[in-house]
Amino acid sequence: EESQRQKICAHPNKTSDGCPFTLQANIEFEEELAAVEAVRAEGIGLLRTESLYLRHDQFDDEQKQYSFYQSILDKTAPHPVTIRLFDAGGDKFFDLGQQEHNPFLGWRGIRLLLDEQALLEQQLRAILKTAAAYPGRVRILVPMVSSLEEVAAIKERVDKLKEQLCTEIGVAKIDVRLGIMVEVPAVAMDAEHFAREVDFMSIGTNDLTQYLLAVDRGNERISGLYDQRHPSVWKMIQKVIEAGAATNTPVSVCGELASDPVAACGLLGLGLNELSMTPGALPRVKKTLCSHSMDEMRELSENIVASTRVSEVKELFADFSTKSS
Ligand code: PEP
Ligand code: MG
Repeated sequence: EESQRQKICAHPNKTSDGCPFTLQANIEFEEELAAVEAVRAEGIGLLRTESLYLRHDQFDDEQKQYSFYQSILDKTAPHPVTIRLFDAGGDKFFDLGQQEHNPFLGWRGIRLLLDEQALLEQQLRAILKTAAAYPGRVRILVPMVSSLEEVAAIKERVDKLKEQLCTEIGVAKIDVRLGIMVEVPAVAMDAEHFAREVDFMSIGTNDLTQYLLAVDRGNERISGLYDQRHPSVWKMIQKVIEAGAATNTPVSVCGELASDPVAACGLLGLGLNELSMTPGALPRVKKTLCSHSMDEMRELSENIVASTRVSEVKELFADFSTKSS
């Protein structure tokens, strides 16, 4: 089984008819880098940074953050690393604020960061220093965006700090791409306008599903209703992919949906070619993607978005799986 897995990982990332795709890893801790290397992920599509707070009881200082990012960059060369700004709130423990009645609809992600200037500045400085030290490899990902005003505000902050740092460390420019998580339906619905303002978009299907279906992703009682195979979720993803294509903006998926092998085929069928997932899921996803053609994947995605019931999509998944094995 292990040698089978190694064989899959060594195989080029191509569909059965030769279309290339990129598989990246979602991680939070340095300790996960061994797994990233073992499955030959082509970089980090999502580096969660909430642990910086959790591990040290208060948000780390700039230097410690910088060292953390450097060690990630060192061990993933020559691939890109997408660092997501601190996404506190919702299900992610944080005690800066008061208890909220609806934490998932509350003070989280970019909302919190724009209010906590010092916290945001510290993280952005650490990331921008890393970007200066590893040219062309660092991407900044902004969580929980719900409006264009937030995009404008974060861009302004990044530009200002970039300018400051260029003078401070004596470089002409800092090469970093800025992207947003698409996890609030308002952004997905109007994705083209958001795409025009950013360098890339990453679809967070975990939150997108929760907000689109109005189902708390952590509530056991209604977990049966929380299903990323809901046809509306797929229609929304399709809209975002189309907006990316229309504006020439790279789009990827970093939510759990990408780690399901059949869903991964459906996503490629919709026109994506970059997915990011937990490292452990990568070999199985890759095996399935390599054993199907783009025509088969397009047929699958067409059937998914033509569905009206969750049960139909579940059936499509089951049929595709049976055909695969
Ligand atoms: C998502 O919402 O899909 C996502 C990838 O982010 P997280 O699970 O950390 O909220
Ligand atoms: Mg999320």
